[in-house]
Amino acid sequence: MTDATAHLDALTRVIPDFPEPGILFRDLTPVFADAAALASIADALVAPFAGAYDVVAGVEARGFALAAASAARSGHGLLLVRKAGKLPGATLTESYALEYGEAALQVHVDQLPAGTRVLLVDDVLATGGTLAASHRLIERAGWALAGTAVVLELDGLGGRERLAPHEVLALQRA
Ligand code: AMP
Repeated sequence: MTDATAHLDALTRVIPDFPEPGILFRDLTPVFADAAALASIADALVAPFAGAYDVVAGVEARGFALAAASAARSGHGLLLVRKAGKLPGATLTESYALEYGEAALQVHVDQLPAGTRVLLVDDVLATGGTLAASHRLIERAGWALAGTAVVLELDGLGGRERLAPHEVLALQRA
């Protein structure tokens, strides 16, 4: 067991019926609040991609916390994949379905030079809709997807299959 997975086992909270009945919510806020856990997880998400990426992208909102920590610790910049309506400049938009609800994501179209290698980070891979929409944004913006890394992959929801042929690094599965 790695340092990161030991921290996840110890600190992740599983909350039934949040935010809707039938959802088994994986709460990572205790992981974020623990300095050693946050550092080990931020490092584990990006270490396998060392030398192969230029910036770390995070999906709003929990992906921001992880991507910012990973980017700062590895000496890279940060790309924000935001919920629709938050970015002031020219944007690209992709809609997607969540395990609960629907949403749209945006990036600033001119945020990075063409060909920039983007490593995408998020907290949980469930159905894969969020990360698939993020992949489409990165592709449409003319950047290169360097990899995708999540803290937790939920089995049985088809997320990994949905993102194929792109691979996903998951620190933990449940
Ligand atoms: P999806 O697009 O279905 O892969 O959903 C992934 C996003 O929804 C992630 O960014 C998570 O923050 C959130 N999410 C979905 N299901 C859960 C869950 N069971 N526990 C915690 N977060 C979840």
